[in-house]
Parts: sequence; structure tokens; C-alpha cells
Amino acid sequence: MKIIMLGAPGAGKGTQAKQIAGKYNIPHISTGDIFRANIKNNTELGQKAKTYMDQGLLVPDELTCDLVVDRIQQDDCVNGFVLDGFPRTIPQAEALENALAKLNESMDFAIDVDVPDENIVNRMSGRRACLKCGATYHIVSIPPKKEGVCDNCGSELVIRDDDKPETVQKRLNVYHEQTQPLIDFYSKKGILKSVDGTQPMDKVFEDIVNILGA
Ligand code: ADP
Ligand code: ADP
Ligand code: ZN
Repeated sequence: MKIIMLGAPGAGKGTQAKQIAGKYNIPHISTGDIFRANIKNNTELGQKAKTYMDQGLLVPDELTCDLVVDRIQQDDCVNGFVLDGFPRTIPQAEALENALAKLNESMDFAIDVDVPDENIVNRMSGRRACLKCGATYHIVSIPPKKEGVCDNCGSELVIRDDDKPETVQKRLNVYHEQTQPLIDFYSKKGILKSVDGTQPMDKVFEDIVNILGA
């Protein structure tokens, strides 16, 4: 099963993608996580990506597409994968489509996690992230067992550099301009499904499972 998660920054794509990956036993591929890992390890890609991410801008397609096209051809992707945060532009969607077409494949579902802008700022200001294992919490709706500490790995939780309110507004604008057109793109391909992302996390997941099949 090959799945794309669509939705605004902070809509809950990552939260749901992790659950999907667990239930269907497919890898969770997050371009944001890949960039953050590269920043942490101070790679050349990380240094380049950081200048865009800190400003709330998208990393250029040239730095993003090949990375994902290579990743989805690795052995663990034979039974599918869930893409979280990619594609984010029409050229990225086309690059993905072309790469899959060469393998005689295509995406199965694009799931739009729908959350209005009003809710997003709250989601982002409460988000706490573990940069070691990628787990994500929310100080009110999805708190860790012990404040400031990751349930999974015990590392310290942090506020992401790009989750400051000024940057969040910029990211939302970028989302509406560059990423939202993908909803129409996948609707025309006949694979778009929408879920109400304002519901509690477990209910959103239930709706997704109803779409994907148990
Ligand atoms: P969120 O989970 O809030 O949507 P991500 O972790 O997916 O954020 O992405 C964080 C940042 O990484 C983005 O604001 C952007 O700068 C960069 N990024 C992630 N994925 C992509 C992509 N597919 N294309 C361009 N930039 C990306
Ligand atoms: P995205 O990957 O789309 O940027 P995340 O999965 O990181 O979004 O979620 C953004 C924030 O909202 C996190 O703090 C997360 O814990 C929280 N969150 C995710 N899903 C829900 C939900 N259904 N209800 C309330 N908060 C949620
Ligand atoms: Zn952790």
C-alpha cells in the first residue's frame, strides 16, 4: 500500500503516519525527519536545508525529489510506504509519479488531514519533538508521561526551531500557495480521501483505517 499524507503543517500528518506505518507494517518516510537528521549530523544537505527551513520556506525540489525517489526504491518499501511531508509541490508530485511509472507502479491513496488554520497555531505552539527518535507530543492533547521527556527513548523534548509563531504563519502561507494545489491534483487522479483532522487522534486514525481497510 502506497500512501501520501497531505495537510497543513501541524495537521497531524506525522502522528497518523506513524500509526499507519505500525499497523500496516510499511516504512514511514518523513522528509522533515530526514532533513532534521541531516541538520543534526551537520551534513552538506542538512546545512543547505536548514537555511530554508528556519525561514519557513520549502527546501528546493532539486534537493528533495531525488532523495525520496531513491528512498522508495529501497528493499523495505516492497510492500509500500507512507509518505509524510512529500510531495509538497506539483513538480514534486510529478517527479514521484514519473519515478513510479518507470516501475509500473502508482500511488494508492492521498489522505488529506483537514484542519483549519485557526487550530494550527495552537497545535504548533504545543508541539514538542524528540529529535532522537522522531516522536511528537502535544503539551495539552498528547502529553508525554513525564514532562519534557520522550516516552520512547527518554531523550529531552524540544520546541522545533521552525515552530515559533512568526515562522508558523509563514509556513501556513507557503502551504496554501504551494502545497494545497495537490489536493486538486490527487482528486483528479481519483485517489484523494479526506479526514477531519480536528477530531481526537484515535478517531482520526479510525477514519483512516476505514479508508485503507483493516
Ligand atoms: P510539518 O510536520 O510541520 O509539516 P515537516 O517536518 O514536514 O513539517 O517539514 C519541516 C520543514 O522541512 C518544512 O517547513 C520545509 O522547510 C522542509 N521540508 C520538509 N519536506 C519538504 C518537501 N517535501 N519539500 C520541501 N521542503 C520540505
Ligand atoms: P504534522 O506532521 O502534520 O506537522 P504532527 O503530527 O507533528 O503534525 O502534529 C502537530 C501537533 O499536534 C503535535 O504536537 C501533535 O502531538 C498534535 N496532534 C496531532 N494530532 C492531533 C489531534 N488529533 N488532536 C490534537 N492534537 C494533535
Ligand atoms: Zn524519543
